Amino acid sequence: MKPRNKFEKEILKASESLKPISEKQIKWGYRHAVSHFGRRNSDGTILCAECGHRYHTSGKGEHSICPKCHTRLTIGNNPRQRKFKEQDYFAVVDTCKGYQVVRYIMVYHTATIGKEPEYSHCEVMQRWIAPNGGKVTFARMRQTLGTMYYDLWIPSSELTLRRENQIYGYIETPFTYPRMNLLPMFRKLGLKNGTFGIDPQRLMDYVKDNNRAETLLKVGQTKLLKLFMDDTAKDIENYWASIRICIRNHYKVTKASEWCDYIDTLKYLGKDVHNAKYVCPTDIIKAHNKAMRKALNIAEMEEISGKTPEFLAKEMRYKMAKGMFFGLIFTDGEITVRVIESVKDMVLEGKAMHHCVGTYYDKAKSLILSATINSARVETVEVNLDTLKVVQSRGVNNQNTPQHDRIVDLVNSNARLIKERMTA
Ligand SMILES: [Zn+2]
Repeated sequence: MKPRNKFEKEILKASESLKPISEKQIKWGYRHAVSHFGRRNSDGTILCAECGHRYHTSGKGEHSICPKCHTRLTIGNNPRQRKFKEQDYFAVVDTCKGYQVVRYIMVYHTATIGKEPEYSHCEVMQRWIAPNGGKVTFARMRQTLGTMYYDLWIPSSELTLRRENQIYGYIETPFTYPRMNLLPMFRKLGLKNGTFGIDPQRLMDYVKDNNRAETLLKVGQTKLLKLFMDDTAKDIENYWASIRICIRNHYKVTKASEWCDYIDTLKYLGKDVHNAKYVCPTDIIKAHNKAMRKALNIAEMEEISGKTPEFLAKEMRYKMAKGMFFGLIFTDGEITVRVIESVKDMVLEGKAMHHCVGTYYDKAKSLILSATINSARVETVEVNLDTLKVVQSRGVNNQNTPQHDRIVDLVNSNARLIKERMTA
């Protein structure tokens, strides 16, 4: 395409002095942008397609490090596969005549067992960015006829100024050559520290007009940054107060999606999301799961108090099945054991005792009773309605209490009263 304006003319002129991609950069791309292959043979050995070395390993994973050439191999498990192929991009971030240039190089890799691995490359696209934000694209032609792929580049075509096409925006790579040349405006945004598996151009665009993102990049909260870039349903503002606490406490978020989930849950639980005690947990997975369990309990409570039709139906079923036992009370003067008379009480019992009796309301063969001393819960008792025997009696956290044997005896000795209710 011929340049249509002064800006395009200037860039076309500048492009004449752009240096070719260096040998060192290409070598880096061959190493990092594509997988290297190994094959697991039927005898369990691994054949490295990179150097031809065959070695034994106890590992069964998808990846393995070749002990000879130290390449990280992606392992194919078909012992008959001879050929492995992959292609992918890497980016080189460069400057030229006062413009920022993001260059995309496609690496083509073929590994054939018993042969030297083959690598080739082709620089397929350049995005030229002016300090004022203007952009133009240099690209090769793509094969578009009869294919749904948008990146079948034609290496023999010319890398030249092309009319903008949204396809160019789809070309992305997590692999960026680590030594980047940056215009001062991008250097100032904190981009000099790397791209952290994010496409460099996308990262520049995102950080440029977003102070929050710029801060995340500068303080190294790159997992969070990547999450907010990828998950547009998440609003960075909702988390900002907590993120500031993390930054102040030098707490690095390593599992961004779990962390955001966790913060949402803390809010739901009414916890202080400005408090480092909550916001910076040592073990995020553990803290996340704990908060989640709590939130689920609350949801359960809301179900009970809200009297949803589903919950009322549960109550109804329970009453039909176990109503004949309601009102049964055994006592030895100190311990009182009574039948639990509603699903709601069953759920409350389970919550208070930290065990799962709350789900027992629909067990046809079970009768659940609560043992108390002076109205305080001691154990929860399950009686099998066929044998009329106590099948379990558990205190808090499923532990037995000092009163355990007395409770079991009290219920077993009153089994006759249960029986009477069944035949009445
Ligand atoms: Zn090797």
